[in-house]
Amino acid sequence: MERLLVVEDDPQLAHLMTTVLGREGYTLLLTNNGLDAVQMAPQADLMLLDLGLPGLGGLEVIRELREAGWNLPILVISAQGAEEIRVRALELGADDYLTKPMSVREVVARVRALLRRSRPEQEIQVGDLRILPKRRQVYQGERLLDLSRTELELLLTLALHPGEVWSRERLLQRVWGAERGNAVDERVVDSYVALLRRKLGDDPKTSRYIATVFGRGYRLVSSPVD
Ligand code: CA
Repeated sequence: MERLLVVEDDPQLAHLMTTVLGREGYTLLLTNNGLDAVQMAPQADLMLLDLGLPGLGGLEVIRELREAGWNLPILVISAQGAEEIRVRALELGADDYLTKPMSVREVVARVRALLRRSRPEQEIQVGDLRILPKRRQVYQGERLLDLSRTELELLLTLALHPGEVWSRERLLQRVWGAERGNAVDERVVDSYVALLRRKLGDDPKTSRYIATVFGRGYRLVSSPVD
């Protein structure tokens, strides 16, 4: 299930939103400040973002994330309703904007709509591999593959961003939730790619599914292999 990051410094509102969204089946991450929001964003599929935050403000959060290349959907929920600020947030890369006080039903509806747009419902096909993101299943031909949670996350991350090259650092943040500067070794990514390739019967030199982009990272092979 999708992971939502709620960034809200009003404890009551934060509690209300996490309760309501939790009831919808989403996994919730929560923080009350902008610095943590930037750090935690790679672990989330969508961010609900207040603008008036202690320390790093919401607009700065959007700017930093977009500059770092993160494309998770951001739904701003702010008491600041002035057109100038709404336009600024959208220009910086927010995907949607709600003004407080808002209805929680509308929050749920907007979250659903944003996730629908950002996550392909349909399957992703790479050679004889069929990846079903919603069901979190991978088939090779007719065979359902037995992948570990980490292997599956790794493959889904690449598959859901076709053509995009993922550096080891970004994969660490996304799949392992490691914060920048954390002691987790980037080579763990290489080990898991090797594991995954072995399970897929893939050869690193002529990989049919996961391509190594020299000096940059990994991406899913997008065109059919001849
Ligand atoms: Ca606030």
